[in-house]
Amino acid sequence: MDECNHRDEGTIHSVLKKRFGHSGFRPLQRDAVRATLDNRDLVMILPTGGGKSLCYQLPAILKEGVTVVVSPLLALMHDQVRALKLQGIEAEMIGSMQTSKEIENIVLRLREGSLKLLYIAPERFAMHGFLDLLQSLPVASFVIDEAHCVSEWGHEFREDYRRLGLLKEHFPQVPVAAFTATATREVEEDIVRQLGLRNPVRLRGSVYRDNLLIRAEPRIGDGKRQLVDFLKRFEGESGIVYTFTRNSAERIAEDLVRKGFRAMAYHAGLPKDTRQEAYRAFVHDEADVIVATVAFGMGIDKSNIRYVAHTSMPKTLENYYQEIGRAGRDGLPSETLLLYSAADAAQRASLIEELEDGPYRQHAFDKLEKMVGFCRSESCRHGQLARYFGESMEACGSRCDNCMAPAGEKIDITEEARKFLSAIYRTGQNFGKNHLIDLLRGSENRKIHQFGHDRLTVYGIGKARNRAEWEVIVERLMELGALARGEHRNLTLTPAGVEILKGNGSVKIRADRLRVQEKKAKISKTIPSDIAYDKVIFDKLRTLRREIAEKEGVPAYIVFGDKTLALMAASLPTTKEAMLEISGVGEVKFERYGDAFLQVLKELRDGDV
Ligand code: ADP
Ligand code: ZN
Repeated sequence: MDECNHRDEGTIHSVLKKRFGHSGFRPLQRDAVRATLDNRDLVMILPTGGGKSLCYQLPAILKEGVTVVVSPLLALMHDQVRALKLQGIEAEMIGSMQTSKEIENIVLRLREGSLKLLYIAPERFAMHGFLDLLQSLPVASFVIDEAHCVSEWGHEFREDYRRLGLLKEHFPQVPVAAFTATATREVEEDIVRQLGLRNPVRLRGSVYRDNLLIRAEPRIGDGKRQLVDFLKRFEGESGIVYTFTRNSAERIAEDLVRKGFRAMAYHAGLPKDTRQEAYRAFVHDEADVIVATVAFGMGIDKSNIRYVAHTSMPKTLENYYQEIGRAGRDGLPSETLLLYSAADAAQRASLIEELEDGPYRQHAFDKLEKMVGFCRSESCRHGQLARYFGESMEACGSRCDNCMAPAGEKIDITEEARKFLSAIYRTGQNFGKNHLIDLLRGSENRKIHQFGHDRLTVYGIGKARNRAEWEVIVERLMELGALARGEHRNLTLTPAGVEILKGNGSVKIRADRLRVQEKKAKISKTIPSDIAYDKVIFDKLRTLRREIAEKEGVPAYIVFGDKTLALMAASLPTTKEAMLEISGVGEVKFERYGDAFLQVLKELRDGDV
């Protein structure tokens, strides 16, 4: 196979521009492309939105033979294959959705050598005859997407992936490239070992995604108000709300619909049709908010997701990073909000308790501890994520809540802390948070009177703080290890709590955390957007995009991404050449849509629209 003439930079760049519409490589992409063209094995760890697909799609076009892409979720490959076809790239998928006739046809094209990319699910390899088929074809390379699924130490281990080691056994000459957005060093080693990669090129991108604004705050009550305040700022934009249980996914979705949001629920317990419809509506911008369990989103290709909210603590930091990673793939500013409470931690711990004793369980506890530490920490969120994945990073300065809270803006809550601890002490450590707050706020409720708590010296001494503020104070005391939870959800004093009660040491809290109720709206305005575009023009382009997408039955972002539209609205191209300069506009797409967009831009200039 002579590929030398395919490998020169000129050819690579012209394919990059023509088929993908990009005028240059992102960091590490060139190295990844080169590795595959040189028939080297590869492991690439690059955050979501970093541009992994290009790293195997581009060599696939240049190499002889078919590139076989293993990806875990068939339904989601579908979009990718469709997008490739729109770029004029010969791609197909084989999955349970295809009829045997369709599969036959694909096999025919494979034999003819006319397919460049074939997407398949890992379980295919266990099927009779599939390996034989592959062995009869010139396979250019194998690609393992979401490769962290290979590792038991990862957060999404899949049995089917374990078998993929057989690729290297059966196809020793064919390079294997493994891609994932999330892998600790340990998981990376496991990927190399399990897949049997030979002296692979290793590329690891920075974990830091500077277009994501990260926030995490204690959940007040059920967190509904915090969630709604957050969502209100993203009217008409796409986002995901992650919940821990199926039940809460449905409940929250219903509630949001009542409040006027275009929301839909998604979880593995819903009928397949309902699930597919939710997925479709979301991808086609007909539903704005998907309220989902973690069953949703793996491999989702939608690039204009503007926010990801969690209504409770994710299982591990890897899960969390992967889930928030679905926001802002197009590189535009996007936000994340994590609402957590000490109860989440206790609940996750009890699930881990049920696992069989051994290293795996210990591992799960360690991960939980890191997740909890992340929630409670007052240091840079991006920095913490980077460290978790083995990378060092300076504080982001402006892209997370902890960095944005001005230094020194801490409030001393020692007095409140003592009042609360004292309330615990005086009620015999037998009561839960709500009752203790009632007591401090001088509530007249029955339970208070029933226990004679209105006669205690602490009754009503906490009126200066509202309930929400008290909840945050309790959270902070939890973080500091001053409180523990008893068997019946009653709060008890720890030795650290006793010290504070005795007057030793002070308790401080980040100022903005105490101002939970009012702080909202101002944050998004501080997001710098690197593209200065006219919103009116952008909206017109978006309307055109929607019309085209509807006509062609594809998701809007497949026509052009938000970023590409923003760049059009900013640079107002008038010619084909100027249009092709824009990132995201390749020749194939220009052929299809270019004129329509140029026309609208012209009308806008002439003042017709
Ligand atoms: P990942 O698979 O790593 O999450 P994708 O492959 O989906 O990322 O790419 C994310 C976005 O970045 C896509 O919208 C893609 O078009 C864009 N992109 C990829 N490579 C480049 C590049 N070299 N220049 C500009 N945009 C790019
Ligand atoms: Zn930061």
